[in-house]
Amino acid sequence: MRFTDFHLLPALEQAVSEQGYEKPTPIQARAIVPGLEGRDVLGIAQTGTGKTAAFALPILDRLGREQPQPSGRRHPRVLVLAPTRELAAQIVESFRDYGRHLHLKSCVVFGGVGQKPQEDEIRRGIDILVACPGRLLDLMNQGIVDLGSVEHLVLDEADRMLDMGFLPDIRRIVAKVPRERQTMFFSATMPEEINRLASDMLRDPVTVQVTPVATAAETVEQYVIHVAREAKVNQLEPLLKDANGRVLIFTRTKHGADRVVRKLTRGAGIEAAAIHGDKSQGARTKALEGFRAGTTPVLVASDIAARGLDIDEIL
Ligand code: AMP
Repeated sequence: MRFTDFHLLPALEQAVSEQGYEKPTPIQARAIVPGLEGRDVLGIAQTGTGKTAAFALPILDRLGREQPQPSGRRHPRVLVLAPTRELAAQIVESFRDYGRHLHLKSCVVFGGVGQKPQEDEIRRGIDILVACPGRLLDLMNQGIVDLGSVEHLVLDEADRMLDMGFLPDIRRIVAKVPRERQTMFFSATMPEEINRLASDMLRDPVTVQVTPVATAAETVEQYVIHVAREAKVNQLEPLLKDANGRVLIFTRTKHGADRVVRKLTRGAGIEAAAIHGDKSQGARTKALEGFRAGTTPVLVASDIAARGLDIDEIL
């Protein structure tokens, strides 16, 4: 299957190819068509499966085919709920990447930062709102956000929302979204409470379940060491000194990758380089070349940046 099989708007096809995507991931292959038809979707999938594009592309296609709304104050037509600010920020970035040739306004709201800039953005008018539940409820209660025009609702990482105690907030928010809408609901697992929430929110959904794309190769030996957060880098040093070859280290954040590199190079005299999304293409290429050549035996990568890297002789 190829992206052209979906007959997406040319503006979206172009953006997808600019992203370097060659073919749809399994969840995209199965969720985009029902999404384009306006069906509700229940996606049982983890991050890393390409689920963001699986919901963003059909929604952007719909929005892009409609007359642009008059500029000035307009209420969001898309609401995406996500449990953490990192995820929310990542989702809005994806909408901006995929929608870069469409004229749509998107905005992300989460707590822990000043409300005023978010408020101003909303007041200027937006099409797509990505939000963490707490801050969104605050904005709703102050009459700053009106969800009465939402046509597409996405709930991402629902099981994490449950773990974080957001379910009552979610129900309060969803009660303000028109019933006549498309709903896409994603969760990595389906505990009973999530099942109930899904059946309350979805109408005749298409269910799509995928396993993570990146399962480890059988030749990889895996083991776990439990350590306190502060002790992690210290534990790493002897492991690296024992290793007889190149080592690839994954960190959850870009910041974390830089921190590990600093500690290794300055603290332990181990040659290491980082690759992640904030590094220029030149810096990434240089780091990879050094790693391939063996001059920099340790490469530290945020998981997104390193996905799909293929390097021989990693020990
Ligand atoms: P997600 O599960 O939505 O967080 O996506 C995980 C990663 O896969 C992101 O870095 C996306 O940019 C990337 N991705 C999504 N769809 C594709 C695709 N069809 N081909 C290659 N990479 C993709």
